Amino acid sequence: MTPLEREIRAIIETEGPMMVSDYMQLCLAHPRHGYYVTRDPLGAGGDFVTAPEVSQMFGELIGAWAAAVWQQMGSPAKVQLVELGPGRGTLMADALRAATGMPDFLSAVSVHLVEASPVLCAIQEKRLANMAVSIAWHRAVEELPDGPAIAIANEFVDALPVGQFIKDRDGWHARTIGIADGKLAFMAAPGVLFGYAGAELPSGTILERRQDQPIALLSRRIAADGGAALIIDYGHAESGFGDTLQAVRAHKFADPLEMPGEADLTAQVDFAALAVTATRQGATTQGPVPQGAFLRTLGIERRAERLQSKATPKQAADIDSALMRLTAPDQMGELFKVMAIAHPKLGTLLGFDS
Ligand code: SAH
Repeated sequence: MTPLEREIRAIIETEGPMMVSDYMQLCLAHPRHGYYVTRDPLGAGGDFVTAPEVSQMFGELIGAWAAAVWQQMGSPAKVQLVELGPGRGTLMADALRAATGMPDFLSAVSVHLVEASPVLCAIQEKRLANMAVSIAWHRAVEELPDGPAIAIANEFVDALPVGQFIKDRDGWHARTIGIADGKLAFMAAPGVLFGYAGAELPSGTILERRQDQPIALLSRRIAADGGAALIIDYGHAESGFGDTLQAVRAHKFADPLEMPGEADLTAQVDFAALAVTATRQGATTQGPVPQGAFLRTLGIERRAERLQSKATPKQAADIDSALMRLTAPDQMGELFKVMAIAHPKLGTLLGFDS
């Protein structure tokens, strides 16, 4: 039993079954045993691989996107380049390197990283040590200073906790995690939350609601001070029903209730719900568009060819397979989507014009 499971069981024994969102929060962010607090989960030796770790092309194109947005904002003398959940700092390093070709943009930029994990902060610090820009770390979005911002969040929102609700004959109940037959198990809280909605849905239907306050705060900032945010994640464009809670460990799917704190726990992003959150704060949204289409519009194929012209045959083959991994419909190209949150005065942004 993991140390975190022992703590979770103690909480359940004294307080009763816990909400799925509380479980997810503890698994990912418990101050001593949380998954992100205790390790670097990324890369071949970790649990999962993200787009910036697949290829430098990803961060480079996002750097070019950020520079284009800055121009569209009227090239302000100062702009924050914000990243939520920067992981190993790879995306930001590639984006800043690509931006050296745009010196006016680079000299306007101050980098602000929002990262909760001390382990990952240390890795980011090392990775970004020699960059010619100022870099500040913040533990949460509310700590960001005011001012126009261009923000990036790749595979950040999927790690924000979701609450789950389950329909029974008498209505909707909170889905909880308790102990049954000596093991952690999903349950339904006895009280009916709303009896009336979705009468036609079968019993057992699950509804997810994400705790997306960081995106609400970021949207409010953008609506007030100007700029845009790029949200990239796996998920669905329309809201729907179903349990999408997913655990991944050593590149394989795992049981979300097994080894709490030792597996990555995420749930699909409901982009329609995220758009509602953003517009409520006075921002507008563009997309979502599939990641494959977005990267092609940004010129990933030309970028790949350019890199291949200077590459060995083995490197050229690796670039091809990275290109496929990021853009092919049966890989990350369709499941991953890109949505922009923008100041209402900003026109159509690069990558969202189709
Ligand atoms: N963007 C990176 C890493 C994705 S993993 C990449 O694409 O490789 C998720 C990242 O979000 C990690 O850096 C994790 O520590 C961070 N994170 C998750 N929840 C967070 C929260 N609530 N506040 C701040 N950072 C968080």
